[in-house]
Formats: sequence, structure tokens, C-alpha cells
Amino acid sequence: MPTALIIGASRGIGRELVRQYLADGWRVLATARNSDDCAALGAAGAHPYQLDVTSADSIAALGWNLDGELLDTAILNAGVYGPRHDGFPTQDDFDAVMHTNVLAALRLLPVIAPMVAEARGKLAVISSRMASMGARGSASGTLYRASKAALNSVLVDTGIRFGPKGATCVAFHPGWVQTDMGGPGADITPEQSAAGLRATLAGLDAAANGAFLNYDGTPIPW
Ligand code: NDP
Repeated sequence: MPTALIIGASRGIGRELVRQYLADGWRVLATARNSDDCAALGAAGAHPYQLDVTSADSIAALGWNLDGELLDTAILNAGVYGPRHDGFPTQDDFDAVMHTNVLAALRLLPVIAPMVAEARGKLAVISSRMASMGARGSASGTLYRASKAALNSVLVDTGIRFGPKGATCVAFHPGWVQTDMGGPGADITPEQSAAGLRATLAGLDAAANGAFLNYDGTPIPW
């Protein structure tokens, strides 16, 4: 039975990824920062782990708890958008967005990637098309864009380090998705996004290491 790790699984795209992997018969390890969400994940059949991605102690505990796991798929999904205005960003805005979207990846990916490499598996970060500098039609959400561009850079370095050891590492745009972050007017449902992400991941081979992909597998320019 293959194993998937979903980081940031309390709601939205992450929660739906858990639901679909479980429905497909996978063993699912799922993280949430709050104990009620962990209980709900456990009740759904996943193995829950409490994790606040902004806490170094919490990440260290996850690494300890997962020691020895072979991860066929690992998806770093947790993220925040930050302020919806494009005015002067406060230090608190910057710290919150960069901590959750970038520093967490810098700390988590070195913990997880060896477990993925050992399984010759797939490691994905949920980035955003908004990170793309080659396909940018708007300048809204500058802080979020900068954080996801930095996340992409962390992913590429992870692919360089762990690709040769067996982990296929990719950054995904999940689509514009109807979640708390995407809002009700977004293009696709969490079900469609998660199904696309899963199908694309399943079809990837090692040649995809270091790619930036739409949820349907289409390449996105950096
Ligand atoms: P939601 O806002 O619905 O969910 C965000 C998830 O991230 C929640 O599970 C949340 O947990 C978790 N999270 C945030 N901060 C932390 C933290 N410090 N520790 C642990 N978990 C945390 O967003 P989506 O499902 O829409 O987004 C998922 C990913 O997809 C994000 O990375 C987002 O940037 C990206 N994305 C989304 C798009 C969209 O249209 N929806 C478009 C492009 C990218 P909690 O419930 O505890 O807050």
C-alpha cells in the first residue's frame, strides 16, 4: 500500500487530497496545526500529526515521528496569502507570509526529501502561477508572489540535492480553486484540483525533477 504525506490538511486543497488518497486505498499521513483538525483527520482514516509549519520545534517533532517512513508521495500544501491590499507591507505581514510559505519549506523539505528519495517517490510543493515571472499578467498580491517565487527556488534546490538520490521534486500551481483562499468565484473545485494534482504526480518520471507545472501537467514558465 503506497504512503502519502500531506502537510496542511485541515481544509481546502490539502483536506481534499487526503480524502482522495484515502478513497484510493493509500496509507495517508496528514498534518494539521490544531488538535480538532487532527482528530477529524484521524476519524477519516488518516494518520494525523500535529504540525505548525512556522514552529521549528514542531518540524523537529514531525521529523522524529516520521523517522523510518518511506514516502511515495509528499505534498507541502500549507500556505497563506497575507494582506489582500498592495499597499505598504508591515514587518508582521512580511514575517507571516515568508515564514509560512518559505522558511517552513527550507526547514521541512530537508526532513521529508530523504524519506521520499528512499521510496523513489514524488515530492511536490503547492506554489502558485502567481509566482511566475515569465507569465505574469498582473501585479496584485506582490508579497504572496514573492513568497511563492522564493518557494519555487527552494524546490529547485531540493530537486538538485535529492533528485539524484531518487526524489522527483516539482512545484505545482493547483489551479484557481474554490477554497477559503481562492474564494467562491474561483475556476475549479478542490475535487478537480486534487484529482488533477494526483493524476499528474502519478504520471511523472524522474525527468520531471525540478519542473513547475499546472495541476493538469502543463509546464508553467518560471
Ligand atoms: P486554504 O486557505 O483553504 O488552506 C490553507 C491551508 O494551509 C490550511 O490547511 C491551513 O491550516 C494551512 N496552514 C496555513 N498556515 C499554517 C501553519 N502555520 N501551519 C500549518 N498549516 C498551516 O488554502 P487552499 O487550500 O486554497 O491553498 C492550499 C495551497 O494552495 C496554499 O499553499 C496556497 O497558497 C496554494 N494556492 C491556492 C490557490 C487557490 O486558488 N485556492 C491558487 C494558487 C495556490 P489552518 O486550517 O490551521 O489554517
